[in-house]
Amino acid sequence: MSSTPTHDVIIIGGGHNGLVCAAYLGMTGLKVKVLERRAVVGGAAVTEEFYPGFRNSVAAYTVSLLNPKVIRDLRLHDHGLRIVERRAQNFLPTLDGRYLLATEGKTEQEVAKFSRRDAEQLDAFNREIDTGADVLRDLVLQAPPNLTSGRSLRGLGELVRAGKLGNRLRRLSTENLRVILDLFTKSAGDYLDQWFEGDLIKALFGFDAVVGNYASPYTPGTAYVLLHHAFGEVNGKRRVWGHAIGGMGAITQAMAKAAASHGVEIETGAAVREVLIERERACGVVLADGRVIRGQVVAANVNPRLLYTTMVTEGALSADVLRRMHNWRCGSGTFRMNVALSGLPSFTALPGSSVADHHTSGIIMAPSLGYMDRAYANARQHGWSREPIIEMLIPSTLDDSLAPKGAHVASLFCQHVAPELPDGRWSDHRDEVADLMINTVDRYAPGFKASVIGRQALSPLDLEQTFGLTGGDIFHGALTLDQLFWARPLLGHADYRSPVAGLYHCGAGAHPGGGVTGAPGHNAARAILTDLRWRRWRQAHKR
Ligand SMILES: Cc1cc2nc3c(=O)[nH]c(=O)nc-3n(C[C@H](O)[C@H](O)[C@H](O)COP(=O)(O)OP(=O)(O)OC[C@H]3O[C@@H](n4cnc5c(N)ncnc54)[C@H](O)[C@@H]3O)c2cc1C
Repeated sequence: MSSTPTHDVIIIGGGHNGLVCAAYLGMTGLKVKVLERRAVVGGAAVTEEFYPGFRNSVAAYTVSLLNPKVIRDLRLHDHGLRIVERRAQNFLPTLDGRYLLATEGKTEQEVAKFSRRDAEQLDAFNREIDTGADVLRDLVLQAPPNLTSGRSLRGLGELVRAGKLGNRLRRLSTENLRVILDLFTKSAGDYLDQWFEGDLIKALFGFDAVVGNYASPYTPGTAYVLLHHAFGEVNGKRRVWGHAIGGMGAITQAMAKAAASHGVEIETGAAVREVLIERERACGVVLADGRVIRGQVVAANVNPRLLYTTMVTEGALSADVLRRMHNWRCGSGTFRMNVALSGLPSFTALPGSSVADHHTSGIIMAPSLGYMDRAYANARQHGWSREPIIEMLIPSTLDDSLAPKGAHVASLFCQHVAPELPDGRWSDHRDEVADLMINTVDRYAPGFKASVIGRQALSPLDLEQTFGLTGGDIFHGALTLDQLFWARPLLGHADYRSPVAGLYHCGAGAHPGGGVTGAPGHNAARAILTDLRWRRWRQAHKR
């Protein structure tokens, strides 16, 4: 077997971050190969036919966090990507006939229906969130300062980067530094209770704190998850969420085209079994079918726990790293459904089944923070919440490529369910929980259940088995302070370089974490390029 590398970089996983990393590396002329286990690239950002004639974004379902630099550099629009805004951002109906409709320029007026005081607070609240989001925006495309010990040249470089971060923070007023501290440490509930009195306005923002986050909105640290969902934009409009025409798969198909246009080879149906390590350096991969593919370096787009506990031989890692990776917190508490509908739902709170603004929005069925808190407690005790938090999105109201004329598709993003059932297996309870989700929507929009022609239900176990998301974790690891920034995925390895020489992290398990951002892929490519150039320089000057 030849030990000469056939490629410069091998990427394990063709999720959006793997594709972004590959495209950036391909642009510099490197020979890159992406190996994807599934038959289709895109990871959790894919569009699939889940029922005959009905297509949908089957996992990730809405776009905002995708970094504008990535869109520009990869020329995703030239490769067919088109993102449209929702006509309204969010709709929160209640069972007693009230509702809150958040629409650009009209939200204040809507909030005032319930509390004039809350309406007056809204501008200042948004400014405060923007302060935090601006800091995050500055950080997402940078490797965090890496906490390394010793006095090496590398340590000096890290010191300079830590200094730059300090400088960035020093430019903030003391008041804004306090805001940052609040947003990084407090619970979303405590934070929102300081600002508002109305249940629905708090639920509107609180939902973002529990999305993919198996926690109560009153769990410390959840304010950060709220902020994490606020650093995005759609077509230049900040904090707005939108829809990619053709579904989330249109984003990753455009990325795959961008990568291919730079010579990247993409192989699907190619599951990696093991990272090949020789002389303490990653030098390729072994596929499930036994093939060996060699590269100068390897980048992993998969969850770090999956990487270190299944693909890297134990002997290559210290006991400390292994223990930490076994304890890497994964599990979103998310149950995901796709439904084919014969028509649009008519809500008791805002009747009508012809397309209206609220039908194009993220429809949040969880009317208060207390409700969300109970949903979490209930799931911890019983395995799933009897009154779940559901966001429903009906993308076919903005995109006629997804469903037959007159019919619709909807995404149901449901929380909270236990990543692992305290009692029983998900395969035995999937249908029962799927029925509960449909019945819950039906309570807000009677007739919804009868309009469901077909459905796909994905429990945490299904998310793991289908998409390789360990514990069904949509972020590749919880977004808690101990797993963020310089601790993502490990203190000392936040700069995309793993504990094994030649092995890199390029997925959502690295900074800045989950969501369809492209940022970990972008940042990892930079680290890989720097190292390969340095390696070549050293080799050239050895002679
Ligand atoms: C249900 C759900 C809803 C979400 N909603 C949104 C949303 O609306 N908006 C948003 O911005 N984000 C959303 N997210 C989060 C977002 O989709 C993820 O954080 C993001 O897709 C992670 O991207 P990634 O490229 O790092 O990893 P992934 O998308 O997980 O890609 C990793 C890839 O590695 C492959 N792989 C795994 N094992 C192997 C192996 N052994 N060999 C080869 N390949 C392998 C997988 O098949 C996969 O393609 C959602 C996620 C889920 C699951």
